[in-house]
Amino acid sequence: MTPDRSHAITIAGAGLAGALLAVLLARQGWRVEVFEKRPDPRRKGYEGGRSINLALAERGLHALRQAGLEREVMAQAVMMRGRMVHFADGQTQLQRYGRDDSEVIWSVHRGRLNLMLLDAAEATGAALHFNQRLDGVDWEGRRLTLVDDVERTRREHAFATLIGADGAGSALRHALGTRLPLGERFEPLGHGYKELEIPPAADGGFRIEPNALHIWPRGGYMCIALPNSERTFTVTLFLPNEGDPSFATVRTAADARALFERDFADALPLLPELEHDFVAHPTGVLGTLYLERWHLDGRAVLLGDAAHAMVPFHGQGMNCAFEDCIELAQRLAHEDDRASAYAAFESVRRPNALAIQRMALENYVEMRDRVDDPDFLLQRQLERVLAERHPERFVPRYAMVSFRRVPYALAFQRGQVQREILVEATRGRASIDAVDLAAADRAVLAQLAPLPD
Ligand SMILES: Cc1cc2nc3c(=O)[nH]c(=O)nc-3n(C[C@H](O)[C@H](O)[C@H](O)COP(=O)(O)OP(=O)(O)OC[C@H]3O[C@@H](n4cnc5c(N)ncnc54)[C@H](O)[C@@H]3O)c2cc1C
Repeated sequence: MTPDRSHAITIAGAGLAGALLAVLLARQGWRVEVFEKRPDPRRKGYEGGRSINLALAERGLHALRQAGLEREVMAQAVMMRGRMVHFADGQTQLQRYGRDDSEVIWSVHRGRLNLMLLDAAEATGAALHFNQRLDGVDWEGRRLTLVDDVERTRREHAFATLIGADGAGSALRHALGTRLPLGERFEPLGHGYKELEIPPAADGGFRIEPNALHIWPRGGYMCIALPNSERTFTVTLFLPNEGDPSFATVRTAADARALFERDFADALPLLPELEHDFVAHPTGVLGTLYLERWHLDGRAVLLGDAAHAMVPFHGQGMNCAFEDCIELAQRLAHEDDRASAYAAFESVRRPNALAIQRMALENYVEMRDRVDDPDFLLQRQLERVLAERHPERFVPRYAMVSFRRVPYALAFQRGQVQREILVEATRGRASIDAVDLAAADRAVLAQLAPLPD
């Protein structure tokens, strides 16, 4: 097939979603061009050169399978079986995510994943252009403005249709907003983050258990650590922006040390570069982006963080963005008219994005404040029991989100029903033996239909 000019698809952003979408669309025979504001990371290396990782779950894996990249990505992924909770007294406890090692998530290197996707996009025939920042769109003339920030040049370029995969600060979203009301709302979390690093041990091995996502929950704030295949861990400290402690009170290297001495004492010896990292690394901003509209007829559509940035506490931002790519590629393959494809994409994905955004916010409270709470632990215990007794009906919400591909909105809705059953069955009970299992069984059978695959 030789796609004609009307089949050209222009993507802004060659990050995780843009590069994956380029692979999927080029495979379908579209002529794909991608404009990315940063330099080519395959030549320049990753900005900052730091190891930043992401949790990859079934939705993301499924998308990588479709792109033929599962094997390559998984060769460098580190399995995370569950949360390793580090209590304030130094004790640790592994809380498994799933039933066994078939239900796990994976830590992958963000930079390397992006490189693999870029190589695959190019190998599939997509044309990638770096140092090309989208800076504005003439919607009537179908021309976009591209700026090269290195050469300090600006040019215009014709397009047939535009896909915005240019992340949370999307320039395409901004350009769309000048043409139609998007109903855009950004809700800041009020908490930020700082990335730190645990290097390998002296013998070259991991310093702490590699096959877990480590959490140091401390009520209003927390630290987490994800393993890297080079035997380091990327640690992320999440703190409020105001109050005590917060990024307003913990400002200097000495403040950071004092905080870790007090609250994260068992992590301190693992972080020899704490002071350096704390001062050298920027403080990240977190929040949720809501949009009422994602597309302009057949001319443009947004996906990934550009459409629905979320807080990172369910580890689903990329997974959701990859699921967007699959859905959009399918719509473009099956609908003749791009306007219908974009409208159908938006109507399927927007409710699901809203659901995972909400679950991601809820998970922050769970991770920092509940994983060491006895009521929560009893509910989790009962959840496992009910999941074993009713495997088709009672699937824990975390499992529906991370190990299945049921729509996020359905996972959210069933999760609420399940939570009510758990709360009701454990109310006033101190242990699992005191729970009326027959009553809980009846509630499951009455309220939860078998979960479709
Ligand atoms: C601290 C943190 C931890 C996270 N952990 C996880 C996790 O464990 N699991 C998970 O699934 N998700 C996680 N996420 C979310 C994940 O990073 C994002 O959801 C994902 O990167 C979205 O992909 P994207 O392609 O939409 O955007 P991005 O990855 O941000 O890519 C956007 C691309 O567009 C380019 N660009 C920007 N502006 C322009 C322009 N004007 N013109 C051209 N190009 C432009 C950028 O340079 C970039 O390459 C985390 C996020 C954060 C902040």
